[in-house]
This record gives sequence, structure tokens and C-alpha cells, in this order.
Amino acid sequence: MLSERLITVIGITISLNGNIGSRMSNYFSSIINEQITYLTLLTYSVAVAAICIEKLRPALTHPIQLQPLQNRTRRVVTNITMHILNIGILPLFSNAVLLFAAEQKCELLPNYPMTQVLLAILSLDLASYAYHIMVHKFRLLWSFHRVHHIDEFLDVSSAFRFHFMENGLSVIIRYGILVALFGLSPIGITVYLLLESIVLIFQHSNIRLSASAEKIIEFVFITPRLHRIHHHHELPYTDSNFGTIFTIWDRIFGTMNRGLSSKEVTIGLKDIEEQPIHRLFFLNVNRKS
Ligand SMILES: [Zn+2]
Repeated sequence: MLSERLITVIGITISLNGNIGSRMSNYFSSIINEQITYLTLLTYSVAVAAICIEKLRPALTHPIQLQPLQNRTRRVVTNITMHILNIGILPLFSNAVLLFAAEQKCELLPNYPMTQVLLAILSLDLASYAYHIMVHKFRLLWSFHRVHHIDEFLDVSSAFRFHFMENGLSVIIRYGILVALFGLSPIGITVYLLLESIVLIFQHSNIRLSASAEKIIEFVFITPRLHRIHHHHELPYTDSNFGTIFTIWDRIFGTMNRGLSSKEVTIGLKDIEEQPIHRLFFLNVNRKS
């Protein structure tokens, strides 16, 4: 969730500028030094590059309801606005969680830098996989996450479209708990965030890969086609390919699904069509009649 990546950075920065900042600084300063300069710039740079590649090698054309320019524009404005709302709201409650986690951290992991980085990356990605399953299985969490799934097309802008509550809980679960339990290495968190930003934009993009490239990349990473299958409008496809960066978790836990080509996928939700942004924000969505 790209909003969450940027929000975590911004949240930590705001905290460091406030009264509680000095208590967090030891733990998070290295994350901030690297992220403020690199992560934000890198995220938006990768997004722009991916948009250019989408124009050159599109995988799918817009569905009928999104073909008029006005509808396409409205959709992109909705996705970007959701992202801006995330940046504005989430730091209000994410800071306290990150502070608490940093103060509780136990540092159970072995004290070898490379091992710590690897463990941070793998544990955060496993936590992301588990969290993604949770938001599909629990009714309340699904009401937040379906805001992302209601999108009727996937492209780079979809990577920025998440409800702030989903991102907030994600900060608590993925970062708060793991930092508190294992004292994840700040460098490991930074590397994970960098990797995740790139893969999230890539997997939501409307980029067409050759069959051979698809095969090689999906051996390790979630590809756009795999993620499109996750965004297919009905079960059991929606309950597959939960991975964020790596495909290993879907392979291990049997949730990998390669069963549809991109052209066979209908993106969105079967019973809910695209909604005005205020309905998405207040989770007051209308079902199709
Ligand atoms: Zn999902």
C-alpha cells in the first residue's frame, strides 16, 4: 500500500518534530534519513516510469464503462484523492503506535546486519500476506479493503487507492507488532519499503509482459497478471494471490492461482460498481440492483 509507505515516513517525521520525537529518534532516524530522500522520490519516479511503460505496452484496454475520457478522468481523480486523504489522516494515529512499538521492542533477532535485513524483509512480507488474507476474511476489514477492489480497472493509480483505516490497521499490525516483538532492523524496514513500493506499482500496473518474462518474474515476485487475477470480480479468484512482494507465501499456503489470462479477468466486484468518493470514504457503498 503505497499511501501507507509514504504515510509511515511522514508520520515518523512529524513525530520527530514533536515532543515525542526525541524518544523515537534513535530507532527511526536511519529509516527517515533514507526514506525521506529516497522512498518518496523513488515511489513517484517509479510510478511515472510505469505510467510511461503502460502507454507503450498496455495489457488491457479500459472496459466499456470507463472508455469515455470523463469516466477515466473521474476514476484517476478518485484514486489520487484517496491517496491524498491517506497522507492527511493516517499520521494522526499511526505515530502513537510506532512510538509504542519502538519502546517495547525486544530485539530477539540475531545481531548480524545482513541476517536482520533478510529477516525483516521476509517477516514483513509474510505479515503483509497474512494481513491481506485477514482483510478479505473479516467483514469489517473487508469493508475497508473493498474500496481498493471496487476499482473497475487496474493501473498505476490503483496502487494508491486504499481506505485510510485499512492503511492505519496495517501500520499497527505489520509494523507495530513486528517491531515490538522482534525489534526489526531499521535498515531492513527501509529495504522492505523500497522493494514494496516498486512491486506494488508494478503489480497494479497495466503493463503487458511477454510470456517468458512473466514466467521468470513470477517465480519470485507477484506480477501484474497474478494480481489482476486477485482483482477478478468473483470468488474463488479474489481469494488467491494474496502476496505483496514475493510469490513464495502463496505457493507455500496453496493460494497461488494462475488460472486466468489477463483478458479473461473482469476487474472489480460483481455486486458493487464504482462509487462517488464520499461513499468510498464513509464506506457507504451502494450495491448493484
Ligand atoms: Zn485484496
